Amino acid sequence: MPSEFDLIARYFSRPRVRRSDVVLGVGDDCALLEVPPGRQLAVSIDTLVEGTHFACGAEPRALGHKALAVNLSDLAAMGAEPAWATLALTLPTADEDWVEAFAAGFLALAEVHGVQLVGGDTTRGPRSVTVQVHGFVEPGRALRRDGARPGDLVYVTGTLGDAGLALLAQQGLFVGLDTVAALRERLDRPTPRLAVGRALVGVASAAIDVSDGLAADLGHICAASGVGATLYLDRLPCSTAVRTYVAETGDWSVPVAAGDDYELCVTVPAARQGEIEALAAELPAGLHWVGMIERPPGVRLVLPDGSMLDRAPAGYDHFARDG
Ligand code: ADP
Ligand code: MG
Repeated sequence: MPSEFDLIARYFSRPRVRRSDVVLGVGDDCALLEVPPGRQLAVSIDTLVEGTHFACGAEPRALGHKALAVNLSDLAAMGAEPAWATLALTLPTADEDWVEAFAAGFLALAEVHGVQLVGGDTTRGPRSVTVQVHGFVEPGRALRRDGARPGDLVYVTGTLGDAGLALLAQQGLFVGLDTVAALRERLDRPTPRLAVGRALVGVASAAIDVSDGLAADLGHICAASGVGATLYLDRLPCSTAVRTYVAETGDWSVPVAAGDDYELCVTVPAARQGEIEALAAELPAGLHWVGMIERPPGVRLVLPDGSMLDRAPAGYDHFARDG
């Protein structure tokens, strides 16, 4: 069995990304980092626990990707540019194959976004993964949750519900053999929408990443901003698989209440609609209008026939969270 030090030395101490703002990376008691002059530091941390956030026996390479991706998604939602990450791994055994595959998934995504792993901690115990990310944003320009105003337009990136449908497939509640692999990819290897977040700085009034389902996450924007919203369900961007599932079951919970898509939900002043539509045409992830910010609190859901969905969508329980 390799020791903790062997594993760190082998997989985490030779960075593929070397940033000039890292004075000292992995290897000492602390990392030494230089925030560029005139930028604010944006910091976020997330923990994934085996049995809660990922299944026992989850594929380690995908897990390495996801652990970083969900954190980068938080930076994206603030409009921040990612720079550094730290990684705390708790492992039941010093399983070198597992660490190698995990590191490969983690470091490949880090490389794509120019993120340097600058430190961490490795301990023994029930398997869990904690990642902290650090990024930069122009002072006063971060995309916060509290900036939405009545009359703002609501947009989302990408497609909603793919990860949720993959979860249903995992539980044996959805069988669509030809689409399950693509859905699984969306659940296991989410794409943080960093370019979208950066492009929306100075344009969006508020933003959040969709980790708990669109209705809940837009609800967080509304609560923080002291406003409400109406979502038009026929406008939600959905893959063919999700569209078909909703048509066949009438279960809107997949695109509305399932989490783990890690798309962005943003609000934009109506006066900037032209700008946002021009941006949407350029961004590979797309930006789709889905609703309006209004004065009355709460999130209202309008069905395609114009009637209101006045309670949590059927099937909501599939996605109910413990915490
Ligand atoms: P200390 O006991 O001083 O906290 P550690 O033995 O925990 O030091 O870590 C030694 C070095 O290795 C530190 O620079 C730490 O940041 C880094 N490190 C430990 N585990 C990881 C990890 N999983 N990923 C990246 N760096 C790590
Ligand atoms: Mg330590």
